[in-house]
Amino acid sequence: MFQKILIANRGEIAVRVIRACKEMGVQTVAVFSTADRNALHVALADESYCIGGPRPQDSYLNQDAILTVATETGATAIHPGYGFFSENASFARAVRDCGIVFVGPTPEVIEQMGDKDHARRVAREAGVPIVPGCDLIATPEQAVEEATRIGCPVLIKARAGGGGRGIRRVDDPAQAGHAFQEASQEAASAFGDGECYMEKFVAHAHHVEVQLLCDEHGTILTLGERECSVQRRNQKLLEESPCACLPDDVRQRMCASARAMAAAVGYTGVGTIEFLYTDDGDYYFMEMNTRLQVEHPVTEFVTGIDLVKWQLRVAAGAALPFTQADIRPTGHAIECRINAETREGVPSCGKVTMLHVPNGPWVRFDSALYQGMTVPPYYDSLLGKLIVHAQTREEAIRKMRSALGELAIEGVSDNSELQLDILNDPDFLSGVYHTDIMAHLLPQSR
Ligand code: ADP
Ligand code: ADP
Ligand code: MG
Repeated sequence: MFQKILIANRGEIAVRVIRACKEMGVQTVAVFSTADRNALHVALADESYCIGGPRPQDSYLNQDAILTVATETGATAIHPGYGFFSENASFARAVRDCGIVFVGPTPEVIEQMGDKDHARRVAREAGVPIVPGCDLIATPEQAVEEATRIGCPVLIKARAGGGGRGIRRVDDPAQAGHAFQEASQEAASAFGDGECYMEKFVAHAHHVEVQLLCDEHGTILTLGERECSVQRRNQKLLEESPCACLPDDVRQRMCASARAMAAAVGYTGVGTIEFLYTDDGDYYFMEMNTRLQVEHPVTEFVTGIDLVKWQLRVAAGAALPFTQADIRPTGHAIECRINAETREGVPSCGKVTMLHVPNGPWVRFDSALYQGMTVPPYYDSLLGKLIVHAQTREEAIRKMRSALGELAIEGVSDNSELQLDILNDPDFLSGVYHTDIMAHLLPQSR
């Protein structure tokens, strides 16, 4: 195992990784921006270094500063968390060139799967169904032609996209040229890459994703699926496992498809294959996330496997000691993302004047919050993740309602009331709901 690891991230995920390292006897190095001087990850790590100003480009995306700290402190690995550098192949390559281990797949694999357009081709060659669509679009005129050929509604999607950004829906081919320009501009400013492709919009679909865990010795495991259809602006709000409406034979085939894709690219580490699943029983590859995901605790609860510890062990070259037959998910887990935002989705920041965190058996709150801290305005609005595990879905829903009812955060707005509304929604309760579920809960924000 590594002796010392640098965590190139902030917030709850930095805290999650630091805790795993402490339990494994690994020394930790935190980096932080001037806005995060008093952040929890800074206090919990063995060593902490300020690497720049609040803007991500100046600190958490400041490659030279991060590599300098890693080299000078003698860290032998860098964990990128999610967001920031986690899916950046050139960062992973620079880390490798310094003789440091990047905790994730190789830069070559990140390059292939991080480009969504390329990943579609990998899926097709691996025999995994993809949504009808087209390759990269060059001009607004071509966007109109393709939208006409594929048939509206379609989505224009950035090949470098993530976090729900760089996606535009087109209901009429005449709008396609404009939507292409908008998506392309948004992607260029968010990801430094404005290239876009087009996909048929699959209506009433479920977002179902499969968790992968792979070592460097050829073992490829799937750790069940997560249903992530509760979304606002294509961003996940609540996730659960298992997916209540997924027939077992489809689950088996979907997991086999995920393993086939991992095998096709020689995947190592943790990763997720996202699919769209329709009530007709069809599923289509959507994208791969070549990193640890926000919602990984849901899978940890149902499988009993600590994904972060195994991610670190396989990055250090360990062989996985279990086989697919050893993975037997039990019970039901739900995660609610607690965001600092108003009901309208406007981000909130400021001082947390009071905090009460729920507790009890099989209740977990992953966050970097503490009473008296200031939530800065510069980063994404995730305050924490509330996760519960129970024997049945019904019991998990009741447990989550109870836990959400206890959670109290004062000083900043949070979305726990909206989460309670979701947990009382008849469609959600039925277990059969689609990515448009928020349309009737939040009619103004489709
Ligand atoms: P998950 O797929 O793990 O649920 P999200 O899509 O919610 O993750 O994104 C997790 C975090 O990573 C968010 O802060 C999001 O803004 C960020 N993120 C995701 N993809 C990218 C990307 N390609 N570039 C930059 N940030 C990203
Ligand atoms: P990101 O990298 O931003 O996570 P995804 O490709 O995963 O982008 O898409 C984000 C969300 O947009 C999905 O979870 C799903 O709700 C919706 N979506 C993406 N592609 C399609 C599609 N072809 N049809 C319908 N919905 C889609
Ligand atoms: Mg996605």
